Amino acid sequence: MRVEGKIVALLVAAGSGSRAGSALPKQYAAIAGKAMLAHAIDHLEHPLIDEVRVVVGPGQESLYREAVGARALPSPIVGGETRQQSVRNGLEALAAEGGAAAVLIHDAARPFLPATVVDALIEALERSDGAVPVLPVVDSLALAAAELGDPVSREALVRVQTPQAFRFDVILQAHQAWQGAADVTDDAQVARASGHSVAAVAGDIMLDKLTYPDDFAREEQRLSARLVSRTGLGFDVHAFANGEELWLGGLLIPHSLGLSGHSDADVVLHALTDALLGAIGAGDIGDHFPPTDPQWRGAPSSLFLGHARGMIEERGGRIDHVDVTIICEAPKIGPHRAAMRERVAGLLRLPVSSVSIKATTTERLGFAGRGEGIAAQAVATVRLPEAR
Ligand code: MG
Repeated sequence: MRVEGKIVALLVAAGSGSRAGSALPKQYAAIAGKAMLAHAIDHLEHPLIDEVRVVVGPGQESLYREAVGARALPSPIVGGETRQQSVRNGLEALAAEGGAAAVLIHDAARPFLPATVVDALIEALERSDGAVPVLPVVDSLALAAAELGDPVSREALVRVQTPQAFRFDVILQAHQAWQGAADVTDDAQVARASGHSVAAVAGDIMLDKLTYPDDFAREEQRLSARLVSRTGLGFDVHAFANGEELWLGGLLIPHSLGLSGHSDADVVLHALTDALLGAIGAGDIGDHFPPTDPQWRGAPSSLFLGHARGMIEERGGRIDHVDVTIICEAPKIGPHRAAMRERVAGLLRLPVSSVSIKATTTERLGFAGRGEGIAAQAVATVRLPEAR
């Protein structure tokens, strides 16, 4: 029987543990500059999945918001003491909102879901109440305590992965009826305990669970190898005017004149923002923050730079380095250079060594030479995942 109606992915990210060695719960730990949870959400983008809902641990809402960024997701569901309770909370929250035809229950610790596994699971639901991805066991198995015990045949065994797909009403009722161990980690067992059949489809090694620091290091390396370097260029000019403040590189600089124009007219941050947008081919600062829009009048340009940084992070990219040249006769930039580097590094979340600020004059030639305004040039080096 075909699955007719809404298919929801319920992503369980409620763990508080950190065997991965970081102080954060591991679903919020970064892999290639992006939280594991965000990788998991992005890999649930599939034409058959209508909605992604995340179950978070109590008190993890702000970590969740930071990990999710600008992705358009409904509010998270708060989980319980155990994984089973978290899944049950998730299912009951979905039921209260009208339920679904089918649900894929997935663990954030298996973030790199191949689309083919989703296809196979949903197809299997046509003939079964549930379906799980499995892989054969390739290592020899044996019982062991302090020393090696008897061998166990691997022929009859499989490794069970997630997502696990179920008809929604079946798994909701099965979780509500569950009387077994509180620490059950496998929804298929919950479904089978209620007498439902669960099909096995081909799993994928990309779904192996990330648990230990080595797992994170391996994935970091795999993803980094697939990043390609891009360079972006930015240029900006603003004119001096009386009665304006002088903002440069996110700092208020004491000077007899300030710059006029869009927002706080910080040419340094505008050139940098354009360089970052250029590196990812995302247009220019005016496309994102039109000068005609009154909400940006007097706005701090750190907002624009933060927006560009966020766009790079959301694409799974990272900023390697930025370099700026400020072109003016006055004020002298030298006394402010160290503070400006630090400010820009802070805004971009980079080490100071990855930020360069330079200044030059134009030998009194041209508008900058006549002291009519300030120009800034910037170049940014960014690494982005290769286009798929
Ligand atoms: Mg500008």
